[in-house]
Order: sequence, then structure tokens, then C-alpha cells
Amino acid sequence: MRLSRFYLPLLKETPADAQIVSHRLMLRAGMIRQQGAGIYAWLPLGFRVLKKIEQIVREEQDRAGAVEMLMPTIQPADLWRESGRYDAYGKEMLRITDRADREMLYGPTNEEMITEIFRAGTRSYKDLPKMLYHIQWKFRDEIRPRFGVMRGREFLMKDCYSFDIDEAGARRSYNKMFVAYLRTFARMGLKSIPMRADTGPIGGDLSHEFIVLADTGESAVFCDKGLVDMDVPAKDIDFDGDLQPVIDQFTSLYAATDEMHDDAEFTSKVAEDSRVSARGIEVGHIFFFGEKYSKPMKAAVAGPDGADINIQMGSYGVGVSRLLGAIIEAYHDDAGCKWPVSVAPYHVGLINMRSGDEACDAACEKIYAELEAAGVEVLYDETSARGGEKFARMDLIGLPYQITIGPRGLEAGEAEVKDRHTGEKTNLAITSVSAEIAKKVKAALDYA
Ligand code: ATP
Ligand code: MG
Repeated sequence: MRLSRFYLPLLKETPADAQIVSHRLMLRAGMIRQQGAGIYAWLPLGFRVLKKIEQIVREEQDRAGAVEMLMPTIQPADLWRESGRYDAYGKEMLRITDRADREMLYGPTNEEMITEIFRAGTRSYKDLPKMLYHIQWKFRDEIRPRFGVMRGREFLMKDCYSFDIDEAGARRSYNKMFVAYLRTFARMGLKSIPMRADTGPIGGDLSHEFIVLADTGESAVFCDKGLVDMDVPAKDIDFDGDLQPVIDQFTSLYAATDEMHDDAEFTSKVAEDSRVSARGIEVGHIFFFGEKYSKPMKAAVAGPDGADINIQMGSYGVGVSRLLGAIIEAYHDDAGCKWPVSVAPYHVGLINMRSGDEACDAACEKIYAELEAAGVEVLYDETSARGGEKFARMDLIGLPYQITIGPRGLEAGEAEVKDRHTGEKTNLAITSVSAEIAKKVKAALDYA
């Protein structure tokens, strides 16, 4: 992409009402623009990151055996009357009336709808287990939308639902999502910690929030340091095999958000120098709720003996748009964002220090074409802006690698490469710079 063609409306001033760094940087770097309280337009740069995050979420859901579909954002109120949640949900639900005075709502989540769909299409226990998911916009009329995309009113969520005939099956589905979540966040460069969450009247131990530690997080969290260093399962893990040992490993150490925290247990279970008491961002939540919806909504299948069995369900959410904020909170410096390669809007920023100079233009065009041919995504700054401005802009938008071509380097046959994460600068031969950077980008992406 040539920068002159791209749409990158950067802000010079730091927006006064943005309280946390990710919100400030997303506005300054021209990624989002606010359209109302907690409602954002996704500008091209932000949209590219959103799509990358969404794709990683999708790949790991697919790998775990879930099947993608798409449900609408607008739902009929009657569906929610079946579960009793239409009245229970309260003011967070955006209620709408259509021209025929039918009551509708903008979906804050999809348990009722997926239950309706599944009950209509499933007759026998032989059709189970199944996991279905979609990645769709949600609306929740939050009392305090804040921190940009972290707590929006309109936000993008991946929500998956599992259907099993018994609790043992439901636990297997739960475990698949548990592992998928560890991998999903790790691929974005995030260390997520599964923390036990309230199961309310459902009971049991099958509810975990996946938390990324960050000073600006909204939840107070307590955990054993050992969890921060635990290795995430590799991509060749067999999702149809026994995943319980992985879950046991990740749940063996203490980890709880403030709602579930028990100080006496924390201090007795965790050695003093291993106690982490910090703040965190909830990026995902998985829970098993059994017959909570299948019972009132009569979603049953015929069991082996012909008698009806209520379906055992679980639901599994990821805050896709919230993740942009979480990743920036984890990767930034005073100059701007520092995107991990896996979610970077472009992998490389190519800077032409003297646009219009024949030799510089030719060298840049060649590198641009070579990188694109190698599958590397490049944002090519061929504008006439001054060098300082070009560098500051690239630092702000935070592409992982910057390649700079100027007349002096060119005479020596060299390009300057800056690694945005380490800040390290090296000179590479013009003839091999594309191949070397392409190799690094590939290696980073191969983690998947
Ligand atoms: P929170 O406690 O943060 O309000 P929640 O318990 O309401 O979250 P879920 O209903 O489990 O969230 O939704 C699944 C995921 O969607 C959450 O883990 C979070 O990452 C994301 N999410 C929830 N509410 C918002 C919001 N207002 N803005 C952005 N993402 C959100
Ligand atoms: Mg909420």
C-alpha cells in the first residue's frame, strides 16, 4: 500500500478525554474515530488489525472443532421471553420497535437464538456433540462506556456455543475452548491467565475468565507467578485427545479475580514471593451452564432409549475489538504502538527519504515489489514529507519493521532496518534486505 493512497488521519494533539494509553494511541494513529458514546468507526489502519485478530480467533476456533456461522445483530424480543431474560436483562439491552410495533432488540449475546436454531435442527443424541460460533457485533448499553474499544457499547465478539448430551461431554467441549483460548491469545503476543469465575446458581468449576495483566485493567486479580511463565500448548495438540492434563496444569495454581478472591486461600496456597496481585483485562470468558436455556426453551434430543434429554450447553466469548486495546496496552512506548507481527496492520513500513530522487525511487519500488511478492505486507511512505515526520509517523503506527532508503545509504549499497520492538537499527545490503525481512516475518507468523 502506498501511503499517499492510504487513509491515515493522524492526530497531532493527544485527545484530552482518552484516559489510557491504548485509547490515546488508537485515536492518534488514526485507527478509530468516535461516533457516539462507546461507538466507534474503524478506520483503515484499525480495521486491518481488527481483521487480523478476528482471523486468529477464527483459526483457533476451527482448529478446536467449532463450526462458523453468522447470526443477525437484531433479534425478536419474543425469543428472549422464552428464556425469561427479556425482562431480566435490564437497561443494558438496547430495545427497538419496528414499523409494525414489533419489539426487537440489538443482541447483547446470542444464547437464546442459538438455542432456537439448534432445537429446530437437531433430533437425536447422535447429532451431538457440536460447537457453533460466530463473530458478530454486539450492543450493550453500558452505564460507563470508557477506555475506547475496551468498554464500548457496540463491540465485536466471538461467541461460541457447545451442545452435549451429558456433563462429561460438556466438559470435553469446555476443555477444547480452554486450550483454544490459551493459543488464541498467545498468538497475539498476549499472556492470558485463566482465572476461575463465578458460576452462580449453576455451580461447579466450569467458568473461567481469561485475563491479560495490565495496569490499566478494570479487574483486580490475584494469581501465582507460575501461571505467567506457563507454556501454552503447541499447534499440533490433538483436540480430540485428552485435554484434561492441560486444564489441570493451568488450574492447579491459584488465580482469581476480585469477585472470587479468597485472601486466606491465596496466602496459604501461594508462597509470598510468588504472589501476584495486579490488575487485568478480561479478554475472554468461558462457562458451562447446563440446561439453563435448553430447559425453558425445550431444546431436547431423543436419547438412546428414545426418551428426551435436555441439551447441556456452554458458551465461550472473546472480546475481539477489546483485544486491540489489550494488545496496545502490552506493546507500546512513548513514540507509539509496537504491533506483534501476527496482528500488525502491515508488517513493514518502507520509508523513502528522498521521494523524487531517481535512484531512491527505483530502489524503493524494487524492495516494495520484492516484499509484496514474498507475501509481506508493506506500507510504503513515498510522500514528500520530511524525514523526521516520516519516522515519527512510522513509530506511532508501530509496524514491526521499518526499512529506510536514503541517498547516502544507497551509495554504500545499504538500507537501514529498524526493529520497532527492540529499537535496534542495522544496515543491510540493498540486494538482500527484502529476503531477510521476509524471512523474519515468516518466522514470526509460523508460530501459528
Ligand atoms: P465485563 O465483565 O468486562 O463486562 P462480561 O462478563 O459482560 O464482561 P461476557 O458477556 O462474558 O463479558 O462477554 C465476552 C467477552 O466480550 C468478554 O470477555 C469481553 O472480552 C468482551 N466484552 C464484554 N463487554 C464488552 C464491552 N462493553 N466492550 C468490549 N468488549 C466487551
Ligand atoms: Mg459486561
